[in-house]
Amino acid sequence: MLKEISGLNDSCIKQLCIAGTWRPGTGPLYESRYPATGEVVGVLNAASPEDVEEAIQGAHDAFLHSGWAQRKPHERAAVLYRIAQLIREEAESLAQLQRLDNGKPISETRALVASAAGTFQFFASACETLEEAITPSRGDYLSMSIYEPMGVVAAITPWNSPIASEAQKIAPALAAGNAVVVKPAEITPLLALELARICEQAGLPKGLISVLPGKGSVIGDLITRHPLVRRVSFTGGTSVGRHIAQIAADKFMPVSLELGGKSPTIVLEDADLDHAVAGVLYGIFSSSGESCIAGSRLFVARSLYDQFLQRLVRGAEQLRVGDPADPATQMGPLVSNSHRESVERYVQKGVEEGGRILTGGARPAGGIYDRGSFYRPTIIEGLENTATICQEEIFGPVLVTLPFDDVDDLVSQANDSVYALAAGIWTRDYKKAWRLAQAVKAGNVWINTYKQFSISTPFGGWRDSGLGREKGRLGILQYMEQKSVYWGLNEQPLPWAN
Ligand code: NAD
Repeated sequence: MLKEISGLNDSCIKQLCIAGTWRPGTGPLYESRYPATGEVVGVLNAASPEDVEEAIQGAHDAFLHSGWAQRKPHERAAVLYRIAQLIREEAESLAQLQRLDNGKPISETRALVASAAGTFQFFASACETLEEAITPSRGDYLSMSIYEPMGVVAAITPWNSPIASEAQKIAPALAAGNAVVVKPAEITPLLALELARICEQAGLPKGLISVLPGKGSVIGDLITRHPLVRRVSFTGGTSVGRHIAQIAADKFMPVSLELGGKSPTIVLEDADLDHAVAGVLYGIFSSSGESCIAGSRLFVARSLYDQFLQRLVRGAEQLRVGDPADPATQMGPLVSNSHRESVERYVQKGVEEGGRILTGGARPAGGIYDRGSFYRPTIIEGLENTATICQEEIFGPVLVTLPFDDVDDLVSQANDSVYALAAGIWTRDYKKAWRLAQAVKAGNVWINTYKQFSISTPFGGWRDSGLGREKGRLGILQYMEQKSVYWGLNEQPLPWAN
């Protein structure tokens, strides 16, 4: 299977990148399986605790002695531009590998690869244009605010969009002059290894990037606790994020935490229905709902509710669920059978609490469906916002729908969640849109669109959805320490000496 992908280098995929050396890990054997068929697409030995130690010591050494941190910003930027270029040159094989690693449709993985290349390009540019400041002086001195790299930083990523989330951490960390250890998710280790190979090929000094696949509670935990690791950038579930924050508190270590969500989408009665139906379907069912920002709670004005739901159900039933290799496929399988079982348990819970399944709620049958972890797009109504499946993140293709009568009540229901990652608003009335955008608690609000991203716009969540921001021109500063420098200009000794 691996050999079918042109340009793929088998030896790189099966070896880990540890402190500048490519070799097998010394941890347990791991397989990456193609979720559409269950076939094995990659086999590797995960990292062991000894490998973690070697990688972090090697990263520290490379940070101190490779000269990367001392290179002029435009010189570091040149390497990052080259990484972007190499990703683009290998775009198709990387997109195919990402499809095999986590089962996303090829149209989505192509977009993820393009976004990873754009991320390296963006942070190359942020690096070479970053300005430091001469601050207003209040005495006989010149005062400055400058930035320096932190040392060894860690990137811990989930399985849903590996190449994009890894690029979002690796690019600013390297641009800032740091060394990086990457801990990809257990079930999707392949793309981080490809990125490391490309970084080295582009001229990044050896040892500055290591990739350590393995069990999160062992390898991720060791990385987070390691005294030489000065910062952790984490994307994943809220409970793991909380655990990492507790370790970080003990170390006084900065962290950024991109966590879960249960995002409300609101359709007002004056919404453009064609746009709203398409946007709601895309917001929940793209990526099979395995998306932190999935619009998984839908609030529709009661006057519109029945008509809107009829169109939504019809739209969900017409979605092309199937082979991720087919460019026409809109929804692929879920990432694994065990994740599908978790989604099924949530749907069952929804029914037990009084929900009515309007469509889906089952596995499709026949052909490829029998081999992969497919699940039908599912819409459930008849629940209160307090129900389990309105409150907990399912991370699958399950939408709960609730009618509303009153906008104040709608706002308090939309905000009644431990999460506050994203929200969507559909209305033709720009004043109502603005008032609602201000009233909903969320790190990201889309008005008459959904799930649109720009690397130049900061991204992150409030409350249990996270801490800190990724992306944006100033995203590079998350990976830097700020230092204030005072230059004395006094002609006379300080008064104390007199
Ligand atoms: P997860 O939290 O189980 O794992 C994420 C990463 O953390 C993996 O690499 C895992 O091995 C590692 N990990 C697990 N335990 C650890 C520990 N004790 N110490 C250090 N690392 C540990 O999440 P997942 O199941 O891979 O991904 C799904 C979750 O990620 C969902 O909750 C989703 O909302 C969230 N997510 C958030 C964003 C965002 O930007 N906000 C984006 C994508 C996914």
